Amino acid sequence: MKFRQTPYVIIGSGIAGLYTAIKLSEKTDREILIITKSGLRESNSRYAQGGIVGILPENIEDSVELHVQDTLKAGSGLTDPDVARFISERSAVAVADLISYGVNFDKSPEKKVELTLEGAHSVRRILHAGGDATGRSIELALCSVVEKDPKILIYRQTQAVDLLIDSDNTCKGVIVLDKTTGEYETVYANSVIIATGGAGQVYARTTNPQIATGDGIALAYRAGATVQNMEFIQFHPTALDFEENGSRFLISESVRGEGAKLKTPDGESFTHKYDERGDLAPRDIVTRAIYFEMKRHGYEHVLLDTSTIPEEKLKARFPNIIKACEEHGIDIFKKPIPVSPAAHYIMGGIKTTVRGETSLKGLYAVGEAGCTSFHGANRLASNSLLECVVVASELAQLLSEQNEDVPSESSDCRINCLISKYEKNNFGYKPDIAPLVQQLRETMWGKAGIVKTEEELMEALKVVNELRLEFNQPYKCRNAEEYEFRSLLTTAELIIRSALMRKESRGGHYREDFPETSDVACDSYLSKQPEPCLC
Ligand SMILES: Cc1cc2nc3c(=O)[nH]c(=O)nc-3n(C[C@H](O)[C@H](O)[C@H](O)COP(=O)(O)OP(=O)(O)OC[C@H]3O[C@@H](n4cnc5c(N)ncnc54)[C@H](O)[C@@H]3O)c2cc1C
Repeated sequence: MKFRQTPYVIIGSGIAGLYTAIKLSEKTDREILIITKSGLRESNSRYAQGGIVGILPENIEDSVELHVQDTLKAGSGLTDPDVARFISERSAVAVADLISYGVNFDKSPEKKVELTLEGAHSVRRILHAGGDATGRSIELALCSVVEKDPKILIYRQTQAVDLLIDSDNTCKGVIVLDKTTGEYETVYANSVIIATGGAGQVYARTTNPQIATGDGIALAYRAGATVQNMEFIQFHPTALDFEENGSRFLISESVRGEGAKLKTPDGESFTHKYDERGDLAPRDIVTRAIYFEMKRHGYEHVLLDTSTIPEEKLKARFPNIIKACEEHGIDIFKKPIPVSPAAHYIMGGIKTTVRGETSLKGLYAVGEAGCTSFHGANRLASNSLLECVVVASELAQLLSEQNEDVPSESSDCRINCLISKYEKNNFGYKPDIAPLVQQLRETMWGKAGIVKTEEELMEALKVVNELRLEFNQPYKCRNAEEYEFRSLLTTAELIIRSALMRKESRGGHYREDFPETSDVACDSYLSKQPEPCLC
């Protein structure tokens, strides 16, 4: 297998990966390699609509303290207050940095940055760009910085398939698959940074694009890293009730922030029956309100009525939502939007510090793949992009202080044993992967979704185990899709096992058989011993 030696390899080119690369490049003269399994611009980040939290000094209504309180409230006892404060305090600098990289946040006619409101925020503090295209604007700005930087090398259409862990449990690099040639390469690196985003594709209904298959979380877990709070999935209340390429278009919470109202198909408001904050209650509450209304009355969806928002404002703020609805035959100036919940964000992930350090030496994680305890049991809207950039910046600082040399090729037995498994083809029975993926996603949606019980979770685990047996491809797979399926199976198993352990309901995790919240809030952790070297 061919190989490369590089000080830093960043896996993923969403906002977390790109921002880490840019900040690191400002602090080092060394090469930085980004590998990304699709095009440089394809990521969850690109689809972020609502915006990014910024506690701006000129916003006299707001303060770090207020934002921390809102974050803690949404996090339902599992947000670490120190982490929340750390990230919140750095938000103004993060916003200024983004502007310096070319992000053009929307401004009022008086040339002031416009701030919007989203659910469970007590004041307007969310910056947006391109109306409802914040993620796209940030992603494109960062991509153009990265593409102009001669120190940053990019492997596109290249998928990370296994991490190299030596006999001392230190991460020494990653095995990657070039999807265009089918060739494998070993990348030896002193620091491996996982920025692979979330895992929405584990569910049949999701707002996440096809890249969101939990690869980084699965790779880190396989390698022996600790994962945290995997049972906490955020189901967004309002995805457009149509599916395209395995994902659903998001109708951003800021539409409700600007005044749109949720109604049943009979035209009745209903969310106030579940929470006094009504349509702008935290996402888990609004999601369950919709879920129970749909279940009780057999509705296929509920409706989001935008007639309360002036037409000019709708056009200026939500051009992409208007366009997406039009593509499905919905004129939102005449008709309400059919919406239903979908998996949106994973609060859990690879356990890290606020500087991205994992439990394994040499391995770091940033962005949605990581879990810093900022979001706790439920993420506050627009807090994730903020976490991506703050943690990326801190991680870059940490890495730059480590004075990395180019690593040598490894003579470690465990590493060489793993590499050898990718050098030979050992394919047995060849199942058609598509129906297996579909079965997994439907099972997760039906039995490990918005509301679950022990019985359902056990059934889901049984299906995951059966699918894994049928698939039976622990190392080298035939193609990129099979590696993604392997990741989905691991991620699904982690979600189910964590959900089984948590015998209570809290934030995004709701157990119908344990509907109460325990007095004591505890994080959940899973880890496994890496496989011993058998050669
Ligand atoms: C529709 C939608 C709207 C959202 N709106 C908001 C919002 O308004 N505000 C907010 O704060 N958050 C929002 N979020 C959440 C937020 O966008 C994400 O949490 C955040 O962008 C994650 O960034 P990331 O860099 O960690 O991962 P991503 O942006 O998902 O990037 C992951 C990258 O890793 C690559 N990758 C994955 N696996 C591999 C592999 N095996 N090998 C190589 N590369 C790999 C992918 O191709 C991609 O480049 C939204 C999410 C969605 C889906």
